[in-house]
Amino acid sequence: MRIKIGIGYDIHKLQEGKKLFLGGAKIPFSKGLAGHSDGDCLIHAIIDALLGAIGEGDIGQHFPDADPRYQDIRSTKLLEIIMEHVRKKGGSVHHVDCIIIAEAPKVGPHIAKMKQILCPFLRVQADDLGIKAKTNEGIGPIGQGEAIAAVAQALIELE
Ligand code: MG
Repeated sequence: MRIKIGIGYDIHKLQEGKKLFLGGAKIPFSKGLAGHSDGDCLIHAIIDALLGAIGEGDIGQHFPDADPRYQDIRSTKLLEIIMEHVRKKGGSVHHVDCIIIAEAPKVGPHIAKMKQILCPFLRVQADDLGIKAKTNEGIGPIGQGEAIAAVAQALIELE
C-alpha cells in the first residue's frame, strides 16, 4: 500500500453575466467565474491535487483550454474523468481538504451542498471532505472581489 498526497491551487476572475459555480454548486450571485469551462476554481484545485497525488501532471495537460470539447463544460464532468484516471491507477481517495478564498458572496452557507455534490464523485464520506471558506481581508484582487481562489490537498491510497 502506498499513500500519496497532492496539492492544488486555482484562481478565476469574477465576471458579470456568468453563473457562479463553486464545488459543483450553483450559487446565487451577480457575477460568475470566467474561464473556458464553468470556472469552478474549487473543483479545478481538487483535480490538480488528485493529479499530483497520482503523478499525472495537471489539469491543463488533461483539458487544454484551446480544446472546444471543454468549452463551457461543467467541472463536475472534468472531475468524473479525473476520478476514472485515479481508479485506473489503482487509487482510492482517503481524504480531501480545501480552502475557498472569496470576499463575496458568502460561501459558508453553500458548503453543505458542495459536499453533497462532491462526495459521490470522490467516493468519500462527508467527514473525508473538508471545505473551508475565508475572505482575503480586503487585500489584493481577491479582497477587492475581482477573483475567487481555492486550495486543495488530497490523500490517495494506491494499491
Ligand atoms: Mg481553473
